[in-house]
Amino acid sequence: MKILHNEPLSKYTTIRIGGTAENLYFPQTTEELIEITQQFGLEYIIGGGSNLLINDEKVFPNVICLTEFNKTIKKDENDVYTIGSGVRLQTLIQAINSDGFGGIEYLYSVPGLVGGAIVMNAGRGRNYGKTISDYVISVQVLKDNKVVSIEKEKCEFKHRSSIFKNSDYIVLSVELKFPVQDRSESKKLRKERIQLCKDHQDNSCPNFGSVFKDSSGAIMKFVKKIGLKRGKVRFSKKTMNWILKDRDGTFRDAVKAINAVKKMHRLIGKKAECEVIIWE
Ligand SMILES: Cc1cc2nc3c(=O)[nH]c(=O)nc-3n(C[C@H](O)[C@H](O)[C@H](O)COP(=O)(O)OP(=O)(O)OC[C@H]3O[C@@H](n4cnc5c(N)ncnc54)[C@H](O)[C@@H]3O)c2cc1C
Repeated sequence: MKILHNEPLSKYTTIRIGGTAENLYFPQTTEELIEITQQFGLEYIIGGGSNLLINDEKVFPNVICLTEFNKTIKKDENDVYTIGSGVRLQTLIQAINSDGFGGIEYLYSVPGLVGGAIVMNAGRGRNYGKTISDYVISVQVLKDNKVVSIEKEKCEFKHRSSIFKNSDYIVLSVELKFPVQDRSESKKLRKERIQLCKDHQDNSCPNFGSVFKDSSGAIMKFVKKIGLKRGKVRFSKKTMNWILKDRDGTFRDAVKAINAVKKMHRLIGKKAECEVIIWE
């Protein structure tokens, strides 16, 4: 198993902010994962790092990175897929589309892994009511060093949340069944998604997608209009609820910007709940 020492975690997050991992483990198999968890308990986990804000002043003793973990895509005779949690979402979508299935092309722009998408219940905006969990049958996890399968009904999928979020579960793989979809329709939907992101998402600087999963539209519109900024981190003037890191932007800058928006919510008696996972 590959282990890197004193590795900067900024390399593994899309916002390019992060502290140092004393030991950064890259398990490829469940056995290797168990080796780590038996030794150190459950430590910090990084998937695609696209929903993570990590304290850049901190040293984390043991961090597990799942980018090299289980990348298998299998389909059985009933067209049920078993997908490893280390598979990139784009790879999954291309694979099911070429088999004549679809339904999650709206995730084609999401730079995460299947495991992270299950943990976060990744999906389209709240109003669309579409998430990856629509097609989940069961999720295979590591819990207390044992492999367990959890039926969808027990996964507690909610808006950008599941039983696996901030928990002692590690998602190993997931069983999914997708609807039949014409290949040319799938191609069109993938293309449309990429164009939509080009038009509406601000990827001019490193970011982690949406900041809050629940917030006031009026406040977020104002924050976008002024491009609220703390240090070298600012809210995008193009995409609502979207933070950008300029060169040398820090964890503290990002936390200050997030807290400023939370304070605005408190002033009018509302709550802004973060979507991004913060490692303090
Ligand atoms: C440009 C951009 C666009 C985005 N668009 C969308 C969008 O349209 N819809 C949407 O829902 N999200 C979107 N996101 C947010 C993010 O990509 C998703 O939440 C994604 O599913 C996170 O997956 P990840 O592998 O990167 O998880 P990470 O960011 O690595 O981790 C997220 C959390 O899950 C935990 N975790 C990760 N993998 C596992 C595992 N296997 N087992 C247990 N815990 C694990 C981590 O510890 C962390 O707590 C976007 C982000 C960016 C940067």
